[in-house]
Amino acid sequence: MQQPLLISSLLRHAERHHPEQQIVSRRVEGDIHRYTFRDMAGRVRQLANALNVLGIHHGDRVATLAWNGYRHMELYYAVSGSGAVLHTLNPRLHPDQVVWIADHAEDEVLFFDLTFLPLIEAIAPRVKTIKAFVALTDRSRMPASSAVPNLLCYEDLLDRQPDHFDWPTFDENTASSLCYTSGTTGHPKGALYSHRSTMLHTYAVALPDAMNVSARDVILPVVPMFHVNAWGLPYAACMTGARLVFPGPFLDGKNLHELFEAEGVTMSAGVPTVWQGLLAHVEANNLKFSTMRRTVIGGSACPPAMMATFQDRYDVAVLHAWGMTEISPLGTVCTLKPQQQGLPAAQRLAIQAKQGRAVYGVDLKIVDDEGRELPHDGKAAGELMVRGPWIISQYFKGDGGQVLVDGWFPTGDVATIDPEGFMQITDRSKDVIKSGGEWIGSIDLENIAMAHPAVAMAACIAAPHPKWDERPLLVVVKKPGAQVSRTDLISFYEGRIAKWWTPDDVVFVDAIPLGATGKMQKNKLREQFREHRLPGI
Ligand code: ADP
Repeated sequence: MQQPLLISSLLRHAERHHPEQQIVSRRVEGDIHRYTFRDMAGRVRQLANALNVLGIHHGDRVATLAWNGYRHMELYYAVSGSGAVLHTLNPRLHPDQVVWIADHAEDEVLFFDLTFLPLIEAIAPRVKTIKAFVALTDRSRMPASSAVPNLLCYEDLLDRQPDHFDWPTFDENTASSLCYTSGTTGHPKGALYSHRSTMLHTYAVALPDAMNVSARDVILPVVPMFHVNAWGLPYAACMTGARLVFPGPFLDGKNLHELFEAEGVTMSAGVPTVWQGLLAHVEANNLKFSTMRRTVIGGSACPPAMMATFQDRYDVAVLHAWGMTEISPLGTVCTLKPQQQGLPAAQRLAIQAKQGRAVYGVDLKIVDDEGRELPHDGKAAGELMVRGPWIISQYFKGDGGQVLVDGWFPTGDVATIDPEGFMQITDRSKDVIKSGGEWIGSIDLENIAMAHPAVAMAACIAAPHPKWDERPLLVVVKKPGAQVSRTDLISFYEGRIAKWWTPDDVVFVDAIPLGATGKMQKNKLREQFREHRLPGI
């Protein structure tokens, strides 16, 4: 009972109890790589020895700029298992931001996929603490880049090392990994996870009413390993002995669908924008999913229209989930309670549009502007507060000062909670539209627009209004070749929403800006439409 919860125990378990289970990766090189948990465990030990040779000590930060793949998985286990801190950098950020974050984290070594060589060349002369750059490849593919000082080859490093390594035992509160929030406002801030928080989160992720991960699953995480540890799936796979399929950089609909079918994938996870590309491909080519049974969708609200397509047309169950970097990330998953299962389809879909129930370990409440707790009646909306053993109590290095309020983490999301405990995000507090002192939930308005057959993507933002302060403005990207007018869309809201929530205007754009984690950047849209004159003003 006194044994600390350490990430190395996951690897030991997978090797001992699921040695033949496979990890399949589509590599940056384009080919498919396969090996087993047994093979992986040996290489992870070689890597732990190599980290030692590179001078990595307990607590040092080791950075990665890598896709989902077996070598990234090896880093997950070797770095944390040996007592160092895995810092997954997000390659979709601007080079200036990558430099800022790597300096702030004081990264010592950076491991990168060859795709990111141009980014490495841009940042290498500027970062202050990184003393070696390791290309995740073999000798024959090593780039001859002179712009990168101390460029090393991953497979060479491993080859030189023995495959025995005794995993150290230490306090379970030791830091294991570090992930920065995207910093849509201000500087990014680091969320530092511990072995204990990661292990407890992993148990929760795998539970049946959460992601329901088992040894019978074949999991393809589309959600990147550089964003909040791919929602914990690389750990949950070792805990349960599930088979893993990694897509590498090939995240378009065609490549994903081929991999789903070829490898018999049963479960996947990702943000709504990824599934849009996949569904468009599957629909256009009249394909189906022969093995896929469920997918976790989170990171932004999943439009019910997308859920209906997955479930009704393709027999793939959607698990709507909510979380954030600061909470490891899993907070809630939407799985129905028994009495809800027999409800008519439309009512079930309405429940699934909610972000779901708290997984055990996470406690939720909503509060008003004065911090007073609001009722769980499904109507009152207030700021969502969370607490639990995998929720940060402060940012890395204490940035931003005290973050908890009476022990609760303020999420910045506005939500309702119904009597059954289903939480629904109505907005991010900074995206809220306040019309005549009342909140209008932009996510609801977007979900309705997304149900229109001509709409590919929709964002609802606040536009200035002399009488009401703000009114909703709908920004729409049409599906290729589709025709729809402003009045068509406005009348589409009739009967679907309270009249005063109907958007005052619709503008059509070619694209909506997406952030580094695939979310719509509404702050950019608000900036773009700051001067927008609503009709009748
Ligand atoms: P960032 O937005 O900085 O990338 P995160 O990736 O941690 O940070 O995002 C967390 C936020 O994403 C949540 O606070 C919430 O606003 C939003 N979010 C996550 N999942 C959902 C969901 N299922 N529905 C609506 N919003 C979501």
